[in-house]
Amino acid sequence: MTIPTTLDTRMLIGGRRPEIDPARTLNVTSPIDGAHLGTIADASAEQVRDAIGAAEAAFASWRRVPGVERARLMHRLADILERDAESLAQLETRDNGKLLRETRTQARFAARNYRFFAGLADKLHGATIPLDAWDTFDYTRREPVGVAALITAWNSPMQLLANKLAPALAAGCTVVIKPSEIAPLTTLKLAEIVSEAGFPEGVVNIVTGGAEAGVALTADPRLGRISFTGSVGVGQAIQRTATEALVPVTLELGGKSANIVFDDADLERAVPGAVAGIFAAGGQTCIAGSRLLVHDSIHDEFVARVADVARGIVLGDPRAEATQMGPVASELQRERILARIDEALADGSRLLTGGTGAVAGAVEGGFFVQPTVFADVDPASPLAQQEVFGPVLATHRFSTEEEAIEIANGTEYGLASGIWSRDVTRVHRVARELVAGTVWVNTYRYSAAQAPFGGVKKSGHGRERGVEAIDEYLRTKNVLIDLSEDIRDPFAIKA
Ligand code: NAD
Repeated sequence: MTIPTTLDTRMLIGGRRPEIDPARTLNVTSPIDGAHLGTIADASAEQVRDAIGAAEAAFASWRRVPGVERARLMHRLADILERDAESLAQLETRDNGKLLRETRTQARFAARNYRFFAGLADKLHGATIPLDAWDTFDYTRREPVGVAALITAWNSPMQLLANKLAPALAAGCTVVIKPSEIAPLTTLKLAEIVSEAGFPEGVVNIVTGGAEAGVALTADPRLGRISFTGSVGVGQAIQRTATEALVPVTLELGGKSANIVFDDADLERAVPGAVAGIFAAGGQTCIAGSRLLVHDSIHDEFVARVADVARGIVLGDPRAEATQMGPVASELQRERILARIDEALADGSRLLTGGTGAVAGAVEGGFFVQPTVFADVDPASPLAQQEVFGPVLATHRFSTEEEAIEIANGTEYGLASGIWSRDVTRVHRVARELVAGTVWVNTYRYSAAQAPFGGVKKSGHGRERGVEAIDEYLRTKNVLIDLSEDIRDPFAIKA
């Protein structure tokens, strides 16, 4: 597949597509074969401010658009995503190297998210609140926060954006989106899609660039919300900047999630579950089950089976049906992963399979890393504590439920976790004790538009998807009306 020559990589600001300044450009490269895919603008701070200004101007009328009309536009957007799912998936795969079968699913998942939140857009009820005083009437309005800045990572651009844009539009916010400079193409394609769907100009704005654009976007006090998906370090920097401007922040950050296999688990399901948890998407997911905790009595057999499956994983072009794992998203990312593997070897972790970047049969020029399994990893070691964001699994053994919970909770992260067991009482006990935003039981990586998602501790705060996600883009206004006709003592006003 070649990128359609019609793909317009210019930004979208107030309905305009400003020409790319040749002095400020960034190259977009395919991780599959290193091919040049296009040139994008490296937005200046002034352009970012313009985009926020355009969103602010559009908000003045968008906030008056009834929910049913916002929903109609969102369903139209979903229709187009479903219609164009194949070409969007092809574009995404070329851009970030994810398996085509996964980007196909993600295009449809994004559409489902827009439909879910479209269903909420005309149901943003406030409450009437009885106060102590009979002659007062009190009610709340749930109002959009205004302009939301939506910043995404490169690993799942369509899906990550839908997690933010769908509730923001449903709430009645206008937005400025900044995709990752590493994989911005499907987000730029959205510029055409929102126009075709009929969204008024300025409701959706898209800027491109790296850290400079990101800083300009997150330092602006005109924002009502920043929603960020990315690394912990950048998340912390954004929260610091936003604190100065007093802008609330939603942070979806990294993870070091534990997949726990008890001795009563159905191993025929748990082995593929553990493999998918870490090697799906080459481990480049925030929810990767990058720590595998296995009960002592089944540890050796189970870990050997996982390593066997890992050894047989077919690496190659992510567009080929037979491929099970594609490249990692950039050369830099591959170097970082290989450095983490070297560090684990130096630490004394036992390498069972993988451990290198050289892969026979992979596409020439692609950024591949072999599926890698380390056994008996010290839970305190860097491999067990720090996110790798690549296909590297650390395994640990445990002998009691309490020990499993202690190891699982023993990192700075708290994004996701998995329990494999057929004992229903144990499942509920362990699920209750795990410090994580998501607990999967006898499955892993299952996502749904209706199910809230987000982290605790250094995995971030705030929730995406699910009914509560829309609250990130709303604020409550209280209206209190005095129904009496009395003249009140001005120094003793109370309800
Ligand atoms: P990153 O933090 O490097 O970049 C994320 C985005 O922030 C990009 O758009 C980037 O241009 C922008 N950015 C960079 N510096 C900035 C700054 N100073 N101010 C504002 N914006 C800035 O992350 P990445 O490498 O693109 O993504 C990988 C990380 O994302 C991993 O840690 C992964 O766990 C995390 N992630 C989390 C989730 C989740 O939902 N919790 C989902 C996917 C990825």
